[in-house]
Formats: sequence, C-alpha cells, structure tokens
Amino acid sequence: MIISMAAGATEFEINHVIDRVHELGYQAHVTRGVERTIVAAVGSAGHREELGALGAAPGVEQVVPIAHPFKLVSMQVKQKRSVVHVAGVAIGGDECVLIAGPCSVESREQLMTVAHAVRHAGATMLRGGAYKPRTSPYEFQGLGIEALKLLREASEQTGMPIVTEVMSTEDVELVAEYADMLQVGARNMQNFSLLRRLAKCKRPILLKRSPSATVKDWLLAAEYLLAGGNSEVVLCERGIRSYDPDMRNTFDLAAIALAKQLSHLPVVADPSHGTGRRDLVPVMARAAVAVGADGVIVEVHPCPEKALSDGLQSLTLKEFADLVELIGRPLRKHLEQSPRSATA
Ligand code: PEP
Ligand code: MN
Repeated sequence: MIISMAAGATEFEINHVIDRVHELGYQAHVTRGVERTIVAAVGSAGHREELGALGAAPGVEQVVPIAHPFKLVSMQVKQKRSVVHVAGVAIGGDECVLIAGPCSVESREQLMTVAHAVRHAGATMLRGGAYKPRTSPYEFQGLGIEALKLLREASEQTGMPIVTEVMSTEDVELVAEYADMLQVGARNMQNFSLLRRLAKCKRPILLKRSPSATVKDWLLAAEYLLAGGNSEVVLCERGIRSYDPDMRNTFDLAAIALAKQLSHLPVVADPSHGTGRRDLVPVMARAAVAVGADGVIVEVHPCPEKALSDGLQSLTLKEFADLVELIGRPLRKHLEQSPRSATA
C-alpha cells in the first residue's frame, strides 16, 4: 500500500504512520519529496484492511494499493527517478552514459588499446568480461582473476570505472574487490541465490534482461536486489529471443520505454547483444537514446575478426568513435563534466 501524507504533515504524524506499518508486520519505505512524504508499506503480512484504515490517521491524504507485483522498483512507490553512482559516474542523471569495451578481456594489450581508445572517443565507463557465460563449454570462458586485475589497471590508467559480470555466488566477493559495478548476465537474471547474495553486496548492479523475460519478470528480478538491501540497480535491455536468423536477438526498444515508465531505476541499452550485428549497433544505440535510455553499453575490439567472443557484434575503434559522433553532444558534455579525469 502507498500511504501519501498530506502536504504539511508533521514529523509526528509521519512517524505515527511508520510505527503503525511496522506494527502490522510490513516494512516502511519512506520517500520524502519537496512537498509531501510517501510511506510505502511493503511485505506480505496480510493486514491489508488495517493498512487501509490508516487513511483516517492524522496527516494522511490517501491510501492506495500498489498496482504491480513489484513494489520497491516501481515508480508509484518512489515517484522520482533514481540516479545510480558508479565511482563518480552518475547513471540516470541529465546525461547519457556510454559504457564500452571488449566482450571478453583477452590480453593486457587488447584491453589497454580498447580502454584508451574508447576513453579518448568519449566513453565514460569501461566494460570487459572476466567470467564468460558461453553457450558451449568448448568456447573461451574468460581469463578470470587475471582479467579482473587487468580491468583494474585499465581503470587506473584511464579514470573510467569498470563493470564486469559475476556468474556465481562464490565469486561475488572477489569480483566486488576489483570492479566498480557488477553485471548480472542475461542468463542469470532469475538466478535467485545470486540476486540475494548481490543484494548484500556494496556495489551497484547492472541487471541484464533475460532473453525470455517479460518486463514484469525483469522488474521482479530487480525487486530481489532492492528488497534485500541494494538499491543501486541499473536495468539493461539486451534483446529477447526471437525467430529471425538474421539477428541474434530482437532489440526491444519498447521495453526500455516501458521499464522507464513503470520503474524509477535507470535503464541502459545494449545494442551489441540486442542485434548481434556491428552494422546495426550505431543506429540502434541512437534509437535507444531516443526512447529514453540513460546510457548505452557496446562491445568494442581492436580487431573484431580475431575476437575470442562476440566478434560479429563488436565495433572497431573507429566505428566506436563514429558512434559517439552519431549519438551527439550530450555524451561529450558528460565526459567534460566527469569528476574523474583521464590520466593518459
Ligand atoms: C556480455 O555482456 O558480454 C554478455 C554475455 O551479455 P548477456 O548476458 O546480455 O548475453
Ligand atoms: Mn558479449
């Protein structure tokens, strides 16, 4: 239930409502706006009628049910957009973020070449896989801890925070030691034990949408993170399974717009996995920004034909620089304002 306090409700009245929500066995999530305060009662205690009766308490304007099964991620509960801060880079603020890097970290030379080039072109964060979820066990599985160390080094050299995937609960502590943001890969979106563990981790999370998830499933996966205590969550649309063999996935632009309507969490778009084709990545990146994405994450490789994973969808360094031009000025403005400056 959402308990909206009247404009001018006193602290005493607000605290009375919060105490009553707790008494009834619910958690109280309080959002203080400029004009009014909202108390969201979240849980499954079952005293809905008693909660409804709070409509008669002093200072309460109205009590309405939360319309969706997801609660803490819903726009209705917070009523203002969240900004997630990743080591000085704001995701969900006025500017669009540009996250770029290789699908997999393959070597020091490969990573440093990409990191410096994308930074120079205008990227604000670096991506790179250390632990790779591959469809076949015979494909490159990632360099693990060696890649984490290289990512840290690249971050120190360029000033960009890094995001990398964590695939299992036992790796969370280690990955969190090196990475500024942890990615939950599409295949793990409903790995509930991983989500529960990440809810207790003090790092922001990039939650990719599973190729077979509805927007509701995706938001409920995010709900696990918020309900468990981690509200630093960014959603990532990366395409859903479809039938067209000419594209790896169907990049679901409407889902970006819908997720932003339903949730206060920032949403970034991954047109690399969304299409699987480097020729479509720039135009779909632009389309994602047009429908309201708070950022774009793309794969870049110095020589895509030699990439150990996802070469077909990886941009060359030049293509990435062109993509920044295509998307336009706002990204550059973000770079100029970035509190972490490049050292190289
Ligand atoms: C990736 O980012 O390289 C990746 C494996 O992404 P996804 O989980 O979206 O397939
Ligand atoms: Mn990839």
